[in-house]
Amino acid sequence: MDYEVIICFETHVELHTATKLFCDCAVEYGAPPNSHICPVCTGQPGALPVLNKKAVEYCVRAGLALNCEINRNSRFARKNYFYPDLPKGYQISQYELPFCENGFLEIADGNGGFYPVGIKRIHLEEDAGKLVHSAESLEKAEHSLVDYNRACVPLLEIVGDHLRNPLRSIEQARMYLEKLRQTLRYIEISECIIEKGQFRCDVNISLRPKGSKNFGNRTEIKNMASFRFISEALEYEIKRQTEILDSGGEILQETRLFDEQKKITLPMRSKENAPDYRYFPDPDLIEVELETDFIEKIRTNLPELPDQKLKRFIEEFGISRKDAIILTRDKNVADYFIEGSQFAHDQKKYLRWILKELFKLLNEANSVITDCKISPRDFAELINFITQNQITEPVGRDVLSEMFQTGRQPGVIIKEKGLQIIQDDSALERIVDEIFGKNPEPVALVQAGQLKTLEFLIGQVMRETKGKANPNKVREIMLQKLSK
Ligand SMILES: [Zn+2]
Repeated sequence: MDYEVIICFETHVELHTATKLFCDCAVEYGAPPNSHICPVCTGQPGALPVLNKKAVEYCVRAGLALNCEINRNSRFARKNYFYPDLPKGYQISQYELPFCENGFLEIADGNGGFYPVGIKRIHLEEDAGKLVHSAESLEKAEHSLVDYNRACVPLLEIVGDHLRNPLRSIEQARMYLEKLRQTLRYIEISECIIEKGQFRCDVNISLRPKGSKNFGNRTEIKNMASFRFISEALEYEIKRQTEILDSGGEILQETRLFDEQKKITLPMRSKENAPDYRYFPDPDLIEVELETDFIEKIRTNLPELPDQKLKRFIEEFGISRKDAIILTRDKNVADYFIEGSQFAHDQKKYLRWILKELFKLLNEANSVITDCKISPRDFAELINFITQNQITEPVGRDVLSEMFQTGRQPGVIIKEKGLQIIQDDSALERIVDEIFGKNPEPVALVQAGQLKTLEFLIGQVMRETKGKANPNKVREIMLQKLSK
């Protein structure tokens, strides 16, 4: 039978505020264990939470960027469960009245238009601490230690809406996650680095016969560690659920985990399934009332979003859609491009060198643009040396490579190493004569009409001059000499 796939994400995003959600402890990834803790975030009796205004601002900023309605009145609730990384025995989260509701995120629909993926709600909550086991898994561990640095770090939970334009394919799921992460980075509320746990996904998936209005039972796959694992887990789940439904079976509504080695999902132990969280309003925190001014100020100062930047790159800079998509994928790359572009004389060459040469160096070094030692201005200056015929492209690549390593300015490297193009034609003529003298056979071949061999001779001159000759000039001189 043909089935329709319904996919929804619950995404947790760690906000990069300076301090935690309800206390003044610093948020610092990788700090020594339990170095950023206090009575509030370790849940000592009598300690009272005080809400971090910046976290609320970031939450509203996310809500506006994701086209949500912002609730003027909002409230925190206690989500009760027991786990060693949760010192209070409850997590402060939101249940009724989250800050943001009924939004959407547009992804490309493949026909030149957009598909608005429904977002049910965005709420703010505190993160739990972190257990460090003495072995890979809890089952094998002899002991476990707990680090409360992460306890009470502000988290956004972004919940997809299975009733309103849910995701229908693995391809759409991947596009949604990438666009979501890109958008959150653009509005600068989180770095969203998956490896640091700043962007974590649970995914719900169900199948139903094509045309059916009812939803099938869904499974939830928890704690997905990479976009690739999410795709693999979804692929496995679609296959597994299809086989069960085809054979007349029923899908159990349950939580499953993805085995990254075997590429399969497995049910979680049943006692961890379907917990009753007994939510109730947190009596230590009063209801939050957002003033219109507060919301409007955030709306006015909302940074440019990915689609707006893409449009501007195409219209203002005359960049092709394909190149603009690559440039705007990472906001930092887009900003780098804009900053340097005001210094570049040849915009097209400048763009090509960023997309080809700079990206190549970044990839090889497994690095990102924010760690790049070359300032946008120096990068543009290097391209100007090439467009002004002061250095050749091969020399330009060598200079770029050195700039990438050391961060030194192109002019300094070129001068110090004497890399300027040989402008003196008589000097070039002497080198051409020398190369001709050393290679009588190739010269004879060219004279007999085999022009391919000319490239070999030009190559010899380039080698002799360490790339400092203008190859077009060399060609011109050679043809002139050979025609005599
Ligand atoms: Zn604290």
